Amino acid sequence: MLKTKDILDEKNPLLRQVSKEVVFPLTKEDKKHIEEMEEYLYNSQIEELAEKYDLRPGMGLSAVQIGVLKRYIVIVHETEEGFDSYILINPKLVSNSEEMIYVEGGEGCLSVNRECEGIVPRYARVTIEGYDMDGNKIKVRAREELAVAFQHELDHLEGKLFYDRIDPKNPYKYHDIYRAI
Ligand code: ZN
Repeated sequence: MLKTKDILDEKNPLLRQVSKEVVFPLTKEDKKHIEEMEEYLYNSQIEELAEKYDLRPGMGLSAVQIGVLKRYIVIVHETEEGFDSYILINPKLVSNSEEMIYVEGGEGCLSVNRECEGIVPRYARVTIEGYDMDGNKIKVRAREELAVAFQHELDHLEGKLFYDRIDPKNPYKYHDIYRAI
């Protein structure tokens, strides 16, 4: 079972590397990593389990965050009906809205254990294409918080962290143009 301490901290140089394309079929090891990432994200968002296992809550993880430089991501998104789980292998952004948004309270990352002030501009709506665990092509349309989560995880695959997108000279630039969510 994955624990918070197994997730790499921002100081780890692996997080700055570009992850490699996955070749199908997935290895047993990769399947296990994906299942563990998904389990972590579920458990961490259920208060009593988060407390029991001492998990920092998060809704997304990329493989590099557990030290695997491969292009797969997992997002577990809580909605009014329950949890939606997204597993994408070799994901790509194929289209996006012109409208930009940002998370008003700041974006969170399981690899960043400090406050980062400023605006992280994201597309309000995105379409992502990738593959499921069996190698079938899938397409996901996401908006708002879920769209931010996809863009955040795609950044990890390029070795980018969310705060790289904050303008250091003017961290709140465009706060009046972009929409806060
Ligand atoms: Zn992150």
